[in-house]
Amino acid sequence: MDRIYAPWRIEWVERNSDPIDGCPFCVLPKREDDRESRIVARSERNYVLLNNAPYNPGHAMVIPREHHEDPTDLDDGALLDHARLKAATLTAMRRDVDPDGVNTGQNLGASAAGGSVDHLHTHVVPRWEGDTNFMPVTGETKVIVEAIDRTYGHLHAGFAAGDDVVDPGDAESGEAVELDFDV
Ligand SMILES: [Zn+2]
Repeated sequence: MDRIYAPWRIEWVERNSDPIDGCPFCVLPKREDDRESRIVARSERNYVLLNNAPYNPGHAMVIPREHHEDPTDLDDGALLDHARLKAATLTAMRRDVDPDGVNTGQNLGASAAGGSVDHLHTHVVPRWEGDTNFMPVTGETKVIVEAIDRTYGHLHAGFAAGDDVVDPGDAESGEAVELDFDV
């Protein structure tokens, strides 16, 4: 039997030891360095965060800026902005990460959740044929951090080359790509 959706876990491999106090999806976008936080793109109502998953460094999440648990809690503007940013994430990923396929989805409610974060987020997970070979499954933080740094650069370039860019930002200095869908 093929498994279509895995209950994706949210993993954190922090480069510094600055602990997150409160909801990480509320805290991270308020920090100065988007590269350090792994925020690769921002739109008016949502942003895109890389999940530091050890064996899928391209695993991204589209997250509303406001703290809500469920898509039915979002107003139409936030929902439309969320959908547009998800589509932009797919385009950026296909342009510069080049996966064979993509899984997208949301885990809603305690029994579906893969982690303890109750702030709504949509997973966008690139997949490759035999993806366990894409990168060795390893517990070594240094290897994971380097892989995620590379992916951050690729995805950042993918967003910056796309439509609706207000400010291309700068991956090296830790500025996410700013998008505005005018919704
Ligand atoms: Zn939150």
